[in-house]
Amino acid sequence: MFSKIFPINCLGCGAIDEFLCQSCVYAEVSHNPAQRPGFSFISGFKYEGLFASALGRLKNQSEYGYVNRFADALKNQIDFDSGIETLVPPSTNSAMRQRGFNPAASIAKKAGFKVTNKLRRIRQSDSQRGLDFQARQRNSNQLFELREQGEFLIFDDVVTTGATIREMIRAVEEQSGMVLGVFALCSTETKGANYE
Ligand SMILES: [Zn+2]
Repeated sequence: MFSKIFPINCLGCGAIDEFLCQSCVYAEVSHNPAQRPGFSFISGFKYEGLFASALGRLKNQSEYGYVNRFADALKNQIDFDSGIETLVPPSTNSAMRQRGFNPAASIAKKAGFKVTNKLRRIRQSDSQRGLDFQARQRNSNQLFELREQGEFLIFDDVVTTGATIREMIRAVEEQSGMVLGVFALCSTETKGANYE
């Protein structure tokens, strides 16, 4: 799974020795705070060419070395309270089997967030195939369940429409918990946020 040799050239400019070089990374800094329906959040970087392809390599080709580079860039870019428990979206079983790690959790931990696994995935996919109408209604927006009440930060690697984050906030508030802040490694510009 981690057998791939880490790239030694910057994915952005080809510079040797750093596979996401400093100047390419800081060309992608986000404007904050970013907004989505229902919440605002702090995002480190724009989800565009460089971060999109680097995240793709991390997630689809398990090039785990990007975790460290993302975490370093994020630490230098955003402020957060590392003493507050932080929720990340739990992977589906099949994604976990395939990758062997949860990208958002790995990046958040490495960046210094206090990641907790108190959020449980109660549905394995967004697919509603095979469900009758009532089950679909019941299921329509319930993806996660909070196991223990508390105050949390939320972190995800990418925010596009914000649907995943809204569902996480719902799950926390359903248990009378509180979300103190939402953070992302990267996010689409608001105009391009009509998809996920
Ligand atoms: Zn570069």
